[in-house]
Amino acid sequence: MSTSTSTLQERADTLARRFSEVFGAAPDGVWRAPGRVNLIGEHTDYNNGFVLPFAIDRSALVAVRLRTGDSEPGTEADAVRLASTFAPDGADLSRAQFRTGGLEPGSADGWAGYPAGVVYALAQQAGVSVPGFDLLLDSTVPVGAGLSSSHAVEVAVIVALNDLLGLGLDAPEMARLTQYAENEFVGAPTGIMDQSASLMGREGGALFLDCRSLESETVPLPLAGHGLEVLVIDTRVVHSHADGGYSARRNACERGAAALGVQSLRDVPEGTSLDGLDEETRKRVRHVTAENQRVLQVVEELRADNVRGIGELLTASHVSLRDDFEVSCPELDLAVDTALAAGALGSRMTGGGFGGSAIALIRQEDEAEVRAAVLAAFAAQGFAEPALFTVLPADGAGRV
Ligand code: ADP
Ligand code: MG
Repeated sequence: MSTSTSTLQERADTLARRFSEVFGAAPDGVWRAPGRVNLIGEHTDYNNGFVLPFAIDRSALVAVRLRTGDSEPGTEADAVRLASTFAPDGADLSRAQFRTGGLEPGSADGWAGYPAGVVYALAQQAGVSVPGFDLLLDSTVPVGAGLSSSHAVEVAVIVALNDLLGLGLDAPEMARLTQYAENEFVGAPTGIMDQSASLMGREGGALFLDCRSLESETVPLPLAGHGLEVLVIDTRVVHSHADGGYSARRNACERGAAALGVQSLRDVPEGTSLDGLDEETRKRVRHVTAENQRVLQVVEELRADNVRGIGELLTASHVSLRDDFEVSCPELDLAVDTALAAGALGSRMTGGGFGGSAIALIRQEDEAEVRAAVLAAFAAQGFAEPALFTVLPADGAGRV
């Protein structure tokens, strides 16, 4: 069902038909939320800084039907039945369920935690009590590749509920709510970037987001017009945001901000001496402050239509993440080094790190060569074969 050649409408129609088979009635509608690639601005979001992600042409689709009292005799009004086409080998669908009433963190596990987290956030933060519903999910965002498949699920659910319940939430409000869901319910201390990109992305553009004010602006990213594309190299090394490495980095940033007497690292003035910090904190702070500057520089280059000019800044970001923030891994470094050696204009790990994906800004005519070089390098090192695919900046979430 998830072939890249089928159009969005075809995917939605197929999903709606499947929903009817699974749940015995047609859905109220189908909603889409894309994954995202972060072009630059890594580990700056929870430091109130700048990020520049773009929504990609890979998305989660959800078909949803609100439970109406008379339709399922014997089914509780607050029951949620979930099914996903992303299922363990041999299984047709991955099924889950929960009740919208009385949700507490920990009361829904596995992937049900994401839809349940959204329901929980709506109850806790917006005073909305969500009725039961049926939901069928089909996503083309690879799971655990650093492209935010989890936020694609959360955002698809919140845009669907926003429409179906007539909540009138705007994109920044939905971004805040899904962040609350992920932080408080799922227990992953992630920032605001991923949901924002999924909600507010624009075709042919990147989302320049100020993570403090949540002001955002679409900056042109006309890759195709310049004969360029972004190649994603999914190393298939599994990361986990709930893992200690991510919280350790957040703690180091908080330590650094406190030691420097600022509310967040966003506020460290240029030229501030970091000499008083211990070595670990100093490196973490240095990454965040320099990364914020690099985001601003990339935005300037894109506004000046100098797309090729951003390559070196992307690579500088990787070096900083590798050496100062220390969130890369051998597979990501190999992907970046090999892509650059094969002609990429710039390359960096993207997402939280410790695995996941790297991106390379490449000329379209170099794609075959870069792909072949990366595959050969991974094979030579005895690493698992990476998944390679190109992405384009796509529109943010909405009803299909
Ligand atoms: P990512 O970087 O892809 O967001 P996470 O570990 O944060 O990685 O989220 C991945 C989790 O999101 C999966 O383990 C699963 O619980 C959920 N998820 C994502 N896509 C799907 C899907 N299509 N079906 C079911 N669950 C999904
Ligand atoms: Mg995630």
